[in-house]
Amino acid sequence: MTIFEKIIKGEIPAYKIYEDDVVYSFLDAKPHNIGHILVIPKDPYPILSDIPDEILQHLIVVVKKIAINTQKVLNADGYHILMNNGEKADQTVPHAHFHIVPRSDGDNNLYTKIIDLGLEVSDFKSLQEKLSL
Ligand code: 5GP
Repeated sequence: MTIFEKIIKGEIPAYKIYEDDVVYSFLDAKPHNIGHILVIPKDPYPILSDIPDEILQHLIVVVKKIAINTQKVLNADGYHILMNNGEKADQTVPHAHFHIVPRSDGDNNLYTKIIDLGLEVSDFKSLQEKLSL
């Protein structure tokens, strides 16, 4: 059982923000900023690809609702919606979850790192060819 399932069952304490039949949301224990919230499906799908579309559609609407409310209440300037999928993508809890991280001017939260990969036009074109759906 994942840590998040234990949180849903109340076996591990957490600060609940929202709950319905299929979604659960709570404060992140080690927040990257004030108001860092996790939103999860109650069923323990490991990553995004495993979540059935009908559940994901509901989940993302809940993410939006919580993000709007959090930004308003905390008077934040913006917010990140993040999701790590897989260990190599920094996922530490194998139960799919969206992060909502409020951001404000001058909060010094360097969550994003911009790296110049030195890509050429040909690289972009080749990627577009390979990845277009
Ligand atoms: P990931 O790295 O998998 O995308 O994010 C996992 C998140 O879960 C981390 O931000 C971490 O702080 C949070 N987390 C891990 N264990 C617990 C816990 O027991 N309670 C709460 N509230 N958050 C947790």
